[in-house]
Amino acid sequence: MKSYRKELSFNVPTRRAFINITPQVEECLAESGIEEGIALINPMHITASVFINDDESGLHQDYDEWLERLAPHEPVSQYRHNVGEDNADAHMKRQVMGREAVVAVTGGKLDFGTWERIFYGEFDGRRRKRVLVKIIGE
Ligand code: ZN
Repeated sequence: MKSYRKELSFNVPTRRAFINITPQVEECLAESGIEEGIALINPMHITASVFINDDESGLHQDYDEWLERLAPHEPVSQYRHNVGEDNADAHMKRQVMGREAVVAVTGGKLDFGTWERIFYGEFDGRRRKRVLVKIIGE
């Protein structure tokens, strides 16, 4: 069995953003040489998500507004998380959007449904963050 590991890094200039990271993950898969197996992609942070959904900007705006209704950033004083810190909402948004994506690898390709793409969801940006890509198989 082969095993491949890589860290991607992102520094989003805004507090929140969704980034299509499918091309980077496809590059990792090509580099790994793995034809049949499983790819795991997860942020190495607790205020960001990796998830699979549609690459459609209206939907991403809907997500942002929905998450902001669920866990508004302001006023930060409404949260008890590490009093003085301002990212409690980011932890909650990440919890809702999930930690990781797992994708089957078939014939050297990510075995997606028609509209599936992989996204990095940032909820507390403006600093460097890492995403782990682990691919196992043969
Ligand atoms: Zn925090």
